[in-house]
Amino acid sequence: MRSAEDVLFSRGGLDRAAHLRSDRAALAELAARADARALPCWRGKALVVPGGNMRLGWLGLDHPVFAEHGGERVFLGLEEGAARFAIDISTWDDPAADREALGRFADMSLNRHPLIGGDLAFAELRANMAVLDAGAAGVAAAARGILGWHASHRFCARCGAATGAAEAGWRRICPDCGAHHFPRTDPAVMMLVTHGERVLLGRAPGWPEGMYSLLAGFVEPGESIEATIRRETMEEAGIAIGRIRYLASQPWPFPSSLMIGCAAEALGREIRRNPDELEAARWATREQVLEGLAGHDPELKPARPGSIARFLLEAWVADRLA
Ligand SMILES: [Zn+2]
Repeated sequence: MRSAEDVLFSRGGLDRAAHLRSDRAALAELAARADARALPCWRGKALVVPGGNMRLGWLGLDHPVFAEHGGERVFLGLEEGAARFAIDISTWDDPAADREALGRFADMSLNRHPLIGGDLAFAELRANMAVLDAGAAGVAAAARGILGWHASHRFCARCGAATGAAEAGWRRICPDCGAHHFPRTDPAVMMLVTHGERVLLGRAPGWPEGMYSLLAGFVEPGESIEATIRRETMEEAGIAIGRIRYLASQPWPFPSSLMIGCAAEALGREIRRNPDELEAARWATREQVLEGLAGHDPELKPARPGSIARFLLEAWVADRLA
């Protein structure tokens, strides 16, 4: 679809300059320059300037917060020739943190570090999708994804020894068995299943009251995107699928997914819902989805703004899938 790259988190804004990852001397030189900056990330949250059109809180590499808590450092790329890094400061413990909220999709709490002045605060990306600047969102997604990978892959999956970061943070190497480990991206499908002028919506157990979204599922080993769509739609709703076509994708680093959005034509409308997967499933007309998008229907609250499910639903009601 023409607007595919308008999906939130999909615009990087940085030149990843991957050729520099193995060039230690060049990177050290770039890092020593006055225009080098780093984005601190804390337990999955990125430093931002709170408010509308939310931007990232870049700091100089010599900022005291990095000397105090600096963990894994990753070279994100170049912005107009200046180096940009992401640095994990998760060893900091915020005594004022809302423990209940941390790690949740809708964590609206902000965490302010005493060494970082001004209005800058750590914010959950998913909770702020509606206000994130598009370029900032893409960079923050990369930072969150790669730092999250380091945090959860400290040991060699082959032999169990502690591994170390290499290639400016884009690889981990095991000193014992020599295995090279690369950052993970797990493909998942997001299905815009339609039958005539209706779209298939479902809600999973535990979702906010009235919230409905498109069906989704992870690609399994040995499965194509198409096979995943056919299996998931059958497993969750008992619906057989005919023609499938790719629409758009969304990096979803929570922790490491890539959502692949596809249009899928249902061969029938009879739903056989799997109660383990879905609490409810229904067909909705364009008018019903429009009412829901406008916030007029408490029984049909479409997926959150910023998500690819919402993006595809909005495109479908506006007839903009081409
Ligand atoms: Zn090993």
